[in-house]
Amino acid sequence: MNTNTKPILVIGGGIAGITAALEAAEVGYNVILVEKEAYLGGRVLRMYRYFPKMCPPTCGFEINIRRIRQNPRITIHTLATVDEISGNTGNFKAKIQIKPRYVTANHSLDDSMTESLVSERANDFNYGMNNSKALYMPHDMAYPSAYVLDREALSDTDAAILLETCPPGSIDLDMSEKEIEVEVGAVIVATGWQPYDVKNLDNLGSGLYPNVITNVMMERLAASGGPTAGEIIRPSDGKKVENVAFVQCAGSRDDKHLPYCSAVCCMGSLKHIRYIREKNENAKITVFYIDIRTVGSEEKFYFDLLEDENVSFVKGKVAAISEESDSKNLILDVEDTISHENLHQGFDMVVLATGMVPVTADFKLPVDLKYDEYGFIDGTTEVNGVYAAGCAKHPCDVSTTTKDSTSAALKAIQCISRGD
Ligand SMILES: Cc1cc2nc3c(=O)[nH]c(=O)nc-3n(C[C@H](O)[C@H](O)[C@H](O)COP(=O)(O)OP(=O)(O)OC[C@H]3O[C@@H](n4cnc5c(N)ncnc54)[C@H](O)[C@@H]3O)c2cc1C
Repeated sequence: MNTNTKPILVIGGGIAGITAALEAAEVGYNVILVEKEAYLGGRVLRMYRYFPKMCPPTCGFEINIRRIRQNPRITIHTLATVDEISGNTGNFKAKIQIKPRYVTANHSLDDSMTESLVSERANDFNYGMNNSKALYMPHDMAYPSAYVLDREALSDTDAAILLETCPPGSIDLDMSEKEIEVEVGAVIVATGWQPYDVKNLDNLGSGLYPNVITNVMMERLAASGGPTAGEIIRPSDGKKVENVAFVQCAGSRDDKHLPYCSAVCCMGSLKHIRYIREKNENAKITVFYIDIRTVGSEEKFYFDLLEDENVSFVKGKVAAISEESDSKNLILDVEDTISHENLHQGFDMVVLATGMVPVTADFKLPVDLKYDEYGFIDGTTEVNGVYAAGCAKHPCDVSTTTKDSTSAALKAIQCISRGD
């Protein structure tokens, strides 16, 4: 037991942060876990299934949440960010800003209390593909399982309705942001990734044509808690998709966008093809790729799909996507680099396989860290006492993330135990 040592501060409550927090807490170290969203789980929770086992992400998540619940050494702050870190190895002071939830912890709410609300907000869990009420449960598996109120989206009329329909004291419209200061011995940064902004890919029609979606949107289209309750249908008219194109490396391995490979997008699309084929056995799929990158046993996903007569692979980088105005079908222009044919092919939906951008590309944490040219935390030159884990460090899958996070937890424990 090491309950007398200073805690470890973990910033980011995705699979990287949760893993690091649990590994450290389960060998007796106190942990403060700070997550900016209203719930833990990060991007993995927004997936329909995850490779290699193709199980719903909630399976592993439930186990982790059970471990967290059983462990009093982990203190969680959601809707929280770390705005200042001072001091040095073994003796950091961190200021944590906690945004108001406007819902008190003492009462349970349910959806019947939100039904009469008119005020809505874009549902960011579903990548903005639908709206939720201004008072909402972030998603079915949210932990903590607590409603959140989007105060800015709430009209005065709806505010009055809420105060009337919800149990007295459950809604506090005057709740304000608070700041707490903590003393910690080491810091683990696990702030993860965000999808590449497809607005930069105007030649591929994203944002212009409704039936051009991204790989992360495909995860939510397939999920039962998604905007279509799991139906893979066209955003423009709700028709079941019959003929889908996947555009690999959409903005990746491209000096004008993301020069690096995000390591998971090929496997992501192979997984998405399975989603479509399981839901519509007649659907035809074409994958346009530069190289298919799958490693180790994951290559079986690719080999299996090569056997599927409804799935074609075309080696070539898509130059442009246009839309037929009546049908809203998409036309792809691409040179097949094996046959040297210029293709001009029509599809009813297109999925752009976009890469991962570190959250730290847009903002820097308030601690002296080295970043590479793309904003990933440079793990080779770690500042003593501050360690990075998961996609904050490099694009990677869940399996690599959890190993990385275990190693970050160990480094943090060693730093505290040495009393650096
Ligand atoms: C389309 C697609 C499909 C994928 N499918 C799979 C798959 O099937 N199997 C697989 O193994 N991998 C898959 N991956 C990769 C997987 O998503 C990542 O490995 C995983 O999300 C990495 O977890 P993480 O915790 O590092 O980052 P994240 O999941 O991004 O979590 C980071 C957390 O930190 C929080 N955060 C960010 N900034 C702050 C801040 N300043 N303060 C506090 N909190 C903050 C975020 O809100 C988030 O909760 C896929 C990736 C893509 C793009």
